[in-house]
Amino acid sequence: MPPRLLGPSEIRALAAELDVRPTKTLGQNFVHDANTVRRIVASSRVDSDDVVLEVGPGLGSLTLALLGTAGRVVAVEIDPKLATRLPQTVAEYAPDEADFLDVVTADALAVEPEDLPVAPTALVANLPYNVAVPVLLNLMARFPTLHTALVMVQAEVADRLAATPGGRIYGVPSVKARYYGDVTRAGSIGKHVFWPEPKIESGLVRIERTDRFGTDPEHRRRTFAAIDAAFAQRRKTMRSALASWAGSPARAEELLRAADIDPQIRGERLAVDDFVRLADVAASADPADILEP
Ligand code: SAM
Repeated sequence: MPPRLLGPSEIRALAAELDVRPTKTLGQNFVHDANTVRRIVASSRVDSDDVVLEVGPGLGSLTLALLGTAGRVVAVEIDPKLATRLPQTVAEYAPDEADFLDVVTADALAVEPEDLPVAPTALVANLPYNVAVPVLLNLMARFPTLHTALVMVQAEVADRLAATPGGRIYGVPSVKARYYGDVTRAGSIGKHVFWPEPKIESGLVRIERTDRFGTDPEHRRRTFAAIDAAFAQRRKTMRSALASWAGSPARAEELLRAADIDPQIRGERLAVDDFVRLADVAASADPADILEP
């Protein structure tokens, strides 16, 4: 039997039973629309071979839909009240799927592979909005087994994540997300499907992991340091924005030229490949070869 999904009256009843007062701090906006969760699951393209990591299952709206499609769901929820109720909700609404759910009460920003009972293959989540980008990027870094991610975030964050070089909204999240793979917008979600209703529209973003720069954490750290430095002063040219990262404007210029990047360009025009090249050049350069004493 396919899972029954939660509509407005079920969400109201569950919230009343648990005496839930949704907090902004935890980004608690619960979806009460079955079509929306079906759409998210369809966009995620997960199948019965997937172990889905769901961050912030809340009252279980998306969890129930995921259990109908994925092989297994591991749900990480920070709010103990919600985490404790979830297995019961699944037993009531999707009894055939109850054995395929694990709930871990934890902060998704701190969760490590050893905290989960099984390695997840796909991240699917309606993310808490105020920590959406760090949660997404941290999980892609810590869980190399995630081959795909489909997340719902604020529309403007979705735009920023999927932005390509050159635009005003292109920035650190856009470049870092592309370090892991291909990033695309996967649709928009209106405000009315949530309780309580947020002030802003939401959007879906998809990352298809390619790992084309490898999985070495040290390589990632170096590359991300160059990205952070370039965008910390995004109105400046790369030569001056990277001065303290490199040691001096002159050294920044040398490294940029060695990486085949125009020192007068701004970071917002560079693709992730450029930052990878720059960080690689900086890592292999002997400072003595570059700086005149
Ligand atoms: N998935 C549910 C839905 O679609 O109705 C709820 C989504 S709601 C936007 C975000 C959920 O994330 C809430 O249940 C909240 O308690 C939880 N949450 C907030 N911060 C978290 C964190 N750092 N780690 C894990 N869960 C978190």
